[in-house]
Amino acid sequence: MKTYEKAPAKINLMLDVLHKRPDGYHEVEMVMTMVDLADRLEMVELPRDTIIISSQVGYIPLDEKNLAFQAARLIKDRYDVKRGVHIHLDKKIPVAAGLAGGSSDAAATLRGLNRLWGLNIPMIELQELGAELGSDVPFCVTGGTALATGRGEVLHSICNPPQCWVVLAKPPINVSTQEVYTRLRSDQISKHPSAADMIAAIQSGSFQEVCEQLGNVLEDVTLKLHPEVQQLKEAMMRLGADGTLMSGSGPTVFGLVSKESKVPRIYNGLRGFCREVYAVRLLT
Ligand code: ATP
Repeated sequence: MKTYEKAPAKINLMLDVLHKRPDGYHEVEMVMTMVDLADRLEMVELPRDTIIISSQVGYIPLDEKNLAFQAARLIKDRYDVKRGVHIHLDKKIPVAAGLAGGSSDAAATLRGLNRLWGLNIPMIELQELGAELGSDVPFCVTGGTALATGRGEVLHSICNPPQCWVVLAKPPINVSTQEVYTRLRSDQISKHPSAADMIAAIQSGSFQEVCEQLGNVLEDVTLKLHPEVQQLKEAMMRLGADGTLMSGSGPTVFGLVSKESKVPRIYNGLRGFCREVYAVRLLT
């Protein structure tokens, strides 16, 4: 018995941090959607009670540190499953990029094992399991477009933004999400993007308005630490993107582009100084 799952990358169309909570997490407001850049997971049932993770890439952990491993162990423990699984991760999403690759793999594992083992766990319960693995996992379980509040796990589904091209570029630097949040002074944020205005822009179906409402308060921190991320944003705009933003805590920058004819110039221009560039569609 085997099954396959696609684990798409997410982007934040807006990300605001309201304040730091007594439990140490930050209270956030994010509008998230998915793009057609995805890892592919193959899950093969094993007769013995074990979890094996493999991947074609050598730079992610394949042990209990892997989020797909953690998702498989959680579902096995919670539903008392005595069977095992071999999960192969065909990684396409850049790692530690602000695109929630690991979270999406975890979510795909929950969906896939629910099917493989015939557990019939309702979506809402899969999301609750996901919240135990990471703040972005519940959103990745269902995908689509959503407003996420709380620490990111409280979801309100909204309609998809108008279809467009998304050019993603990941500079060759490592950004620690934890460091970015630690450096952020939520009481000193100069301009908070508005979730309500982004949702209104999406609901109006106006691509231009969506571009105008893009905003991410974590840019203040990451762009200061890594000026090349700012340069990448400027290059994207110069090359013709209609709007740009850093996703999550970075360092990936994405540009939204309405006209397909503009995409090759932006893609090729960025490839000149950035190795990891992708041109994909929104997953609508
Ligand atoms: P987020 O936006 O949720 O912070 P990210 O996109 O910045 O996530 P990931 O690609 O999820 O980052 O990787 C973060 C870290 O998690 C990596 O350093 C990697 O070692 C570890 N990791 C664990 N499981 C996975 C996985 N299945 N795929 C990629 N990285 C994983």
